[in-house]
Amino acid sequence: MQPRLVDDFGRTITYLRVSVTDRCNLRCGYCMAGEVSFSPRRDVLTIEELEFLTSVFIERGIRKVRVTGGEPLVRKGVMHLFRGLSRHLRSGDLDELCLTTNGILLSKYAGELADCGVRRVNVSLDTLDRRRFAEITSGGDLDEVLAGIEAARDAGLAIKLNAVAQKGYIERDVHSLVQFAQDRHFDISFIETMPLGEVKTSCADRYLPLSELRQLIERRWMLADIDASTGGPARYARVEETGGRIGFITALSDCFCETCNRLRLSATGALYTCLGHDDFTDLRAIIRREDGAVGLEDAIHAAVAGKPKSHEFGNSPGREPVLKRYMSALGG
Ligand code: SAM
Ligand code: SF4
Repeated sequence: MQPRLVDDFGRTITYLRVSVTDRCNLRCGYCMAGEVSFSPRRDVLTIEELEFLTSVFIERGIRKVRVTGGEPLVRKGVMHLFRGLSRHLRSGDLDELCLTTNGILLSKYAGELADCGVRRVNVSLDTLDRRRFAEITSGGDLDEVLAGIEAARDAGLAIKLNAVAQKGYIERDVHSLVQFAQDRHFDISFIETMPLGEVKTSCADRYLPLSELRQLIERRWMLADIDASTGGPARYARVEETGGRIGFITALSDCFCETCNRLRLSATGALYTCLGHDDFTDLRAIIRREDGAVGLEDAIHAAVAGKPKSHEFGNSPGREPVLKRYMSALGG
């Protein structure tokens, strides 16, 4: 039995988010710059390396793995990774293997994901208006996402929608998104825009505290706070009329770092212990050493021990990015 992952503040780490690529088939303005440069292919972990490292973490107590990106479904061979990791579900070492996707390629992969033991997918969807969807994503086709959601539903996957609460956009879309989710019995979470990277849209201009968004929702729906947790950062409210759930990810206005149980592994093998800090541990350099992965164990435990107490985004709406890294590099 390997020692568990516990940081210096006593937080036990049980959740790993694995980014399998920094590439994407969309260009959301809050996530990517207009001109994006991607990691050179030689720096990106192979599928085998991703599976090896993820398995090392599972042996040390990770119970939930989320595959993310960039857009994870554009990564060649990503289904081999899901197949490989599914053995940990069968052995009982892993409780959950899930995915965050923009949904564009979900129709193609939904059945295979279900075969690999995936039970839940998060689909990012900020609007149900075709024109605004194309604007937010720089040319994306909403119908592909809607078809992906249907395919996932047909494959028996539970779906949670994630919408970034961008001021000037979300006010027009929130009601139709909540209705869409209630009609289909999907959870839906709203996320405060976080200031990462020099992206196309300024976080300062687009920041909307979720307390304001909640007031808007409460004009149409009765919400009651509940204690539910899916192991992630959302705080949930129940919609009294439908029994559905709405999550609020208040990264800035009400920081949830105290209960953070997460680590993030980038597609290039960088281990980040906090989304809001630039420091990382280079696990790729260790696993590509000629003498084998000597020092991997120590490097992981040292990184976890030093997990920062909190992110450094600040909570003022006028805050500009303090980090150079884009959200697409780590997957949120
Ligand atoms: N491409 C996939 C997708 O869009 O779901 C996975 C990666 S994406 C980076 C993960 C999540 O981060 C998405 O829900 C996206 O909306 C969110 N996101 C991206 N940039 C953000 C930002 N600046 N602030 C808050 N959330 C952001
Ligand atoms: Fe791509 Fe997801 Fe970022 Fe949009 S949020 S650009 S879909 S990685």
